[in-house]
Amino acid sequence: MSAVYDIHTHDFPEVPRTSIVQLTPASYCLYPDHVYSVGLHPWDIEDDWRVQMAKVAVIAMHPHVLAIGEAGLDKKKSPVPMDVQKAVFREHVKLSEMLHKPLIVHCVKAVDELLAIRREMGIKHPWVLHGYRGGPEQAEQLRKQGIYVSLGLEYNTDTLLDMPFKYLLLESDTHGDVNVLYKLVSEDMEANEQSVRSLVAKNILAFLKSHYEPSFE
Ligand SMILES: [Zn+2]
Repeated sequence: MSAVYDIHTHDFPEVPRTSIVQLTPASYCLYPDHVYSVGLHPWDIEDDWRVQMAKVAVIAMHPHVLAIGEAGLDKKKSPVPMDVQKAVFREHVKLSEMLHKPLIVHCVKAVDELLAIRREMGIKHPWVLHGYRGGPEQAEQLRKQGIYVSLGLEYNTDTLLDMPFKYLLLESDTHGDVNVLYKLVSEDMEANEQSVRSLVAKNILAFLKSHYEPSFE
């Protein structure tokens, strides 16, 4: 597989297969040059979410779909009741485990609920919490429980500098060009941009492969 530098984006990258492009249940065309994740975002859950999830499941089986998500819990911006959000999220967790594809999580003000679901379902494989803006302590707490964080443009510099190299994951999300983020991160780390790119690509690959290896936790 070619190097992936952007673990989560809603835009197609200039160079195919360098970013994991987010698909929704309404996506009907997978351009074969690209690689993807697919999920039902908590903002987009509708009354017929079982039908939406059936579509997610079909798309998720495609070999170019490398991850499940983004999916998760949002107490702030989603109008959907929390019990429905949880039910939909559990379906994504099951898909991730069944298809051996890691999960990209969207979580706003619901970390306790997220961890509870992880425990209740007995999940050992790592997940990634995308667009993490919190501090280093919470990032470490999450990491200890198998949830990595990926940083976007609004990252907390202390979190970046505190993070062990092997966990550094970056994403452009809806903010366009990921190279802008690499520039900022390299400056903050006082590191060579090319070596940061290689590091993140290696970490993303390891994360994607993590579901194929036995968990010893
Ligand atoms: Zn997103």
